[in-house]
Amino acid sequence: MLPRFRSNAVRKVKGKGVNFPFRYVRKKSRVACCPLCGVKLAVRRQGAKSKRIPSRAFGGVLCAKCSFDVLKLAGRVMGGRMKLEDVDMERRKFVKQMVK
Ligand SMILES: [Zn+2]
Repeated sequence: MLPRFRSNAVRKVKGKGVNFPFRYVRKKSRVACCPLCGVKLAVRRQGAKSKRIPSRAFGGVLCAKCSFDVLKLAGRVMGGRMKLEDVDMERRKFVKQMVK
């Protein structure tokens, strides 16, 4: 395999014909978005990982507003004031991570 195809930015795609069973395609870069509300996350491109991504819970995954909501719900579930089944389906998997 050529060095340029060893990168993680490249993926294998099925090619056409007998002579070309597969080809390599560069992955498209995409902007990180919050899975709950779709807001673009403010992620820096350069610097150490600790500078690129906020170090709070769900940093780099959820936006600040949604992570606050999830932590609030997790607190309610842990306190016994709410059941995990009462949390809506979108947020449940994130709440589950915090409760565990
Ligand atoms: Zn959000």
